[in-house]
Amino acid sequence: AHLDRIAAVDGAVHAFLHVSGESALATARRIDEQRAAGEPLHELAGVPIALKDIVVTKGVPTTAGSKILEGWLPPYDATIVERIKDAGLPILGKTNMDEFAMGSSTEHSAFGNTKNPWDLDRIPGGSGGGSAAAVAAFEAPLAIGTDTGGSIRQPGAVTGTVGVKPTYGGVSRYGLIAMASSLDQAGPVTRTVLDSALLHELVGGHDPRDSTSIDEPVPSLVDAARKGASMDLTGVRVGVVSELTGEGYQEGVSARFNESLDLLRAAGAEIIEVSCPSFRSALAAYYLIMPAEASSNLAKFDGMRFGLRVEPAEGPVTAERVMAATRGAGFGDEVKRRIILGTYALSAGYYDAYYGSAQKVRTLIQRDFEAAFGHADVLVSPTAPTTAFKFGEKLDDPLAMYLNDVATIPANLAGVPGMSLPNGLSDDGLPVGFQILAPARADDRLYLVGAALE
Ligand code: GLN
Repeated sequence: AHLDRIAAVDGAVHAFLHVSGESALATARRIDEQRAAGEPLHELAGVPIALKDIVVTKGVPTTAGSKILEGWLPPYDATIVERIKDAGLPILGKTNMDEFAMGSSTEHSAFGNTKNPWDLDRIPGGSGGGSAAAVAAFEAPLAIGTDTGGSIRQPGAVTGTVGVKPTYGGVSRYGLIAMASSLDQAGPVTRTVLDSALLHELVGGHDPRDSTSIDEPVPSLVDAARKGASMDLTGVRVGVVSELTGEGYQEGVSARFNESLDLLRAAGAEIIEVSCPSFRSALAAYYLIMPAEASSNLAKFDGMRFGLRVEPAEGPVTAERVMAATRGAGFGDEVKRRIILGTYALSAGYYDAYYGSAQKVRTLIQRDFEAAFGHADVLVSPTAPTTAFKFGEKLDDPLAMYLNDVATIPANLAGVPGMSLPNGLSDDGLPVGFQILAPARADDRLYLVGAALE
């Protein structure tokens, strides 16, 4: 049914870069047989899933939205893919994204725009616009995204889906093409909070192949979601982050947010206001740390090891000249912009002024979170300042595009988990997202409060 749906609507939505129809059907048939034979199966066995194209899949094209990886067939599976395969979820295919996960609209993909199913003239968010659009358009019930600065949560907000960025270290990064290694996390994109809990539990947990993976059991997320569904939040302290509300947020976004606070109050939660002054500098710190790490991670795409190789049009074919020709042809403008920014921020003489200062701001943000979580069990804000914008609106203005991430970025800088869940429609008829943040390793609180609000 999902493959039929993809065939019917993906021409218009373009959520997928690659559809693995036959292997998905083969998995589905195998699970049917196992079920008929009475074999014990995982709760999600047979439920199809789509994967953001930054997740490495053995023998299946994996491009990270970039021409530089066109034609590369990975020789191995990411840990999360192994877990998904072991549990018997048919993999429908790979979804579109901003090149190397850099962007907030999926317009930076080298393979064309993904459309927002709510309005085909509008962006589906980014960088994981393909995963969010696939779930919103009923092409897939579950998807995997990655979130370095909001790329699961902001697409979730603008497409009316649930998206979760787990605690840093909660889900293995082995086999995710790295953008900014100290910020990257993979997580679920679904239509309900309980679906996210099931998928998060499946892919989460310790992995010795990721040196930053947390070596302790994941708190029970499914139990928390089931408990939250009873809508009793007595004793739960909810902190509204004053720096992430009010000015700069679209009127309809603020209105829906305030209505949700009333619902939380009605469920017995205590609503308090908290201030995190350093969040004002989060965007500036992120856009130094992220390009710095990305410039280093992307050095491996040199025309020798993976995918594209371009030889210089004339002159000698040296390693350096092949590298320059390949990177010149293979990377898009946004990726080049960030490599240049990152290389500059890391260069001798500027390192302390830029990268060093940004790291200090990062520590201040972590302290703000610690202080706020001294008073509140969870923190909340709108996920994104506006609903989905039109194609082209922010493409020529990188700073305007970056501003879309103000509310999502602090969580990545501090490593804490965050969820975006549907929060009704704004006055323009487009979906709004409600963001919940919890202390590191307390991802269960997202599910408790999220399920109560859903
Ligand atoms: N939009 C942010 C950026 O462009 C976040 C990207 C992400 O989370 N992958 O960096």
